Amino acid sequence: MGFAITPAGYVEYLKEAARVIEEQGEYITGLDAATGDGDHWVNLNMGFQKLVESAGELAELPLGGCLQKIGMLMMSTIGGSSGILYGGAYLAAAKAVEDREALDARGLCLVLRAMVDAIMARGKAQPGQKTMIDALHPAVLAYEEGLAAGIPEEELLANVKEAAEKGAESTRAMEAMRGRACYQQDKGRGHLDPGAVTMALQISSLVDFVGSAL
Ligand code: ADP
Ligand code: MG
Repeated sequence: MGFAITPAGYVEYLKEAARVIEEQGEYITGLDAATGDGDHWVNLNMGFQKLVESAGELAELPLGGCLQKIGMLMMSTIGGSSGILYGGAYLAAAKAVEDREALDARGLCLVLRAMVDAIMARGKAQPGQKTMIDALHPAVLAYEEGLAAGIPEEELLANVKEAAEKGAESTRAMEAMRGRACYQQDKGRGHLDPGAVTMALQISSLVDFVGSAL
């Protein structure tokens, strides 16, 4: 039982996430058009397509180097706030894996924790401010709680996915305090945050990928 995500495995997850993100173009662009400048999907999709193009090279790197390269590619391809935030998140994740060759349940949790901490620091943002953090942070908390309680991995992964999806949904009621939505008169209230939705899509793809290997 248990899983071990190697660089080749992580790249498989990225391909799946890229496929899901590509499919949701109209929906995500509509969300960002309502509260931002409408470019979130175009930018993120470009970044993920670049990762797919680089899949062969990424899969050959050691785990830390693979995550570092992903961060650099995202930073240079995505642009906007998301490029900096995702780039920084992956660079922090690369440091967090130290000399691990693969990610088991505990290693993956450390990576996600490093990512959310990096995003909060770089974006000077906290949970509850209507950003991508509102999908990732509850997922990390659910993961940490599940590990501490020693629940079976299948249940743990389901909890992580549910927390991310509920977290993204919770942004609908929030008023933005970070990002472009805070310049809107209604601070985006009543609209989902696009960055939280795309974050939840990635977490959901990751959980499905990991779960399929259990
Ligand atoms: P930009 O706002 O520069 O056009 P994108 O459209 O690529 O960037 O991304 C917008 C998303 O980035 C938002 O929906 C939000 O989730 C996230 N975001 C924006 N600013 C911050 C921040 N300071 N901290 C965390 N996430 C943020
Ligand atoms: Mg934008």
